[in-house]
Amino acid sequence: MAKGILFVVSAPAGCGKDTILEQALSRDINLHYSVSATTRAMRPGETDGVSYHFKTRDQFEQMIARNELLEHTEYCGNYYGTPRRAVEEMLENGKNAVLKIEIEGAANIKKLFPEAVLIFILPPSMEELERRLRKRGTEDEPTIQKRLEQAKTELSFAKNYDYAITNGDLEKAVDDLVAVITAESFKVSRNADLIERLTAK
Ligand code: 5GP
Repeated sequence: MAKGILFVVSAPAGCGKDTILEQALSRDINLHYSVSATTRAMRPGETDGVSYHFKTRDQFEQMIARNELLEHTEYCGNYYGTPRRAVEEMLENGKNAVLKIEIEGAANIKKLFPEAVLIFILPPSMEELERRLRKRGTEDEPTIQKRLEQAKTELSFAKNYDYAITNGDLEKAVDDLVAVITAESFKVSRNADLIERLTAK
């Protein structure tokens, strides 16, 4: 059986990556979400084991020590990491896996899995990003300015990714992400086993 493809999706806060990914995951494209571990507090509406595996710092550090994470990073004062086994199992079972992680984690995954496909979600403009961050109404002015600065820094890493999808219109962005995932599975390199069997004497 062909191995699954590893996809990584990154975007600054406010670019709509959660919604885009959620909708892409509901499409019939053999895409499976890798649930990360984190030490940050659970937010309203989140479920342990679905949104994240919520851990104490102690538990997280034990996971690091036991080499249970493919990559991990500290982001805004909290640990985040990708559990190794779940991802390896998905790929071995021919399932496409998607990680929703920040730029440093994405770079580390690309080192470990050079064939991983890195997808960056862009806002249509900085003005639109600012408007979306304000619309959430959850943050004060200094926090919004900090998030915009951070977004600029993160966006400068988009050039290291394989694909850039602009989220101007949500439905189109979902279709574009699905198109990338679908096209990747048709690459000759990902169908080498079948081609070999078909051409065997
Ligand atoms: P949030 O706290 O808003 O859910 O996530 C903060 C940031 O951490 C987001 O950019 C998210 O994609 C990233 N993140 C979530 N899980 C992981 C992970 O397992 N590894 C890394 N490197 N980043 C993650």
